Amino acid sequence: MKKIAVFPGSFDPFTVGHESIVLRALDMFDEIIIAIGYNSEKKGFFPIEKRIKWIEKVFEKTPKVKVLSFEGLTVDFCKQHNAKYLLRGLRTSSDFEFERAIAQMNKKILPEVESVFLLTSPENTPISSTIVREIYKHGGNISEFIPKNMIIE
Ligand code: ADP
Repeated sequence: MKKIAVFPGSFDPFTVGHESIVLRALDMFDEIIIAIGYNSEKKGFFPIEKRIKWIEKVFEKTPKVKVLSFEGLTVDFCKQHNAKYLLRGLRTSSDFEFERAIAQMNKKILPEVESVFLLTSPENTPISSTIVREIYKHGGNISEFIPKNMIIE
């Protein structure tokens, strides 16, 4: 059976930290679905269609990686796509506490899905979409924090 992992997040925007997690997980799975979660009542900063297009460009030469969006529970999305793994990145101990609670709750709701965590590469530890977004909003240069072939337009 195909090993499918879902990498869920807001990716508002996708950063080199996210890219690195996906690249390092490539060997572990047959398919990775980058799943952009959205809430119709709480709009993100970058439009969802653009976020999808930009990430698709980053992985255009990597057929194992798909980019989709979803609304609702991540575990329901996993079920719909036959994914048995949830991929997440860990930067700090506060990430750990947050991720632990979510993963344990997800396990209660859908026991057959296993959460898999990769520790961030040290150089990516301070990178977060929130900070990258703030730099962008104030006209700063974000090119070193987003994937090389990702063009924000
Ligand atoms: P969410 O809104 O669900 O926190 P994000 O888009 O912020 O989504 O992040 C998605 C996943 O990527 C989370 O598991 C997060 O911990 C991880 N992540 C975010 N930034 C980095 C980074 N710099 N290095 C490694 N993992 C990261």
